[in-house]
Formats: sequence, C-alpha cells, structure tokens
Amino acid sequence: MCQWHILHRLDALCASEAAAFDKGHGMHELPIVEDIIRCMDRESGQRGFSRISEIKLSIGELSGMVGECVQMYFDILSEGHSCEGAKLVFEYSPVKFICSSCGREYERSPDFRCPACGGEGIRKRGSGSEFSIKSFEGEP
Ligand SMILES: [Zn+2]
Repeated sequence: MCQWHILHRLDALCASEAAAFDKGHGMHELPIVEDIIRCMDRESGQRGFSRISEIKLSIGELSGMVGECVQMYFDILSEGHSCEGAKLVFEYSPVKFICSSCGREYERSPDFRCPACGGEGIRKRGSGSEFSIKSFEGEP
C-alpha cells in the first residue's frame, strides 16, 4: 500500500478560507473543521486518493482551538467524505518570544524574560495563534 506524505499549510492550501480565519470573530472549531474537510475533498480529488487516512494539524496554544472539539466535529462531519475515519494528530505549537535586548527567540520562561540575557521578551507576531494542516496521508 502506497502512502504519500505531503506537507501543506492550510493557508497555502486554502487561501480563501485562511483569509476568513484572519478576519477573526471567533476561532470556533465547527467552521474550521468544515474547511479542513473541504480541503481534504479537494486534495484527494486532485491527487487521486480514494481516502485520506491521517491528518496532522498544528494548533497554536493561543488559537483557542481544542483538540477534543475538533475531533468531535470531525467525526460527525467527515461522514461520507474522503477523510471519513481519518486519524487526527494534533501538534500544539507554543507561543514564541523574541528578546528585545539580544534578539534571541525562545518559547517560554518562568517570567517571560529572555533565558540568555534576562531582557524583556516580546511575543513573536502570530506565534501561538496558528492553526494549520501540517501534512496528510492518503491512499490511492
Ligand atoms: Zn536576550
């Protein structure tokens, strides 16, 4: 059985849907799960997959997305689609900080200060709020 492993970010995959996320008002799981399923239908059609077996999702810890909720909506909504029964794998991506003194990038520290020089950290733009399809596997 052949398997493909394809790296994709949701914003590359579905530019229009990603634009809708950016507009904000409520990162609720339901419309996003619908987007994932739409993307998977389109991708499986284009690549000739009969089904999608696994989807890796990257969830920023500030995105407000809850893996269990994504899974619940997905189980219900994917019925009859190419990704029905696919395994969802969640990877949580942390907020990143950039030190305002030395420019070092770091994930977290007890007081949010730079672990190298103690300088003040500034949240890296967009970090921790991302939500994307990292990769998926399909079967022909
Ligand atoms: Zn520093």
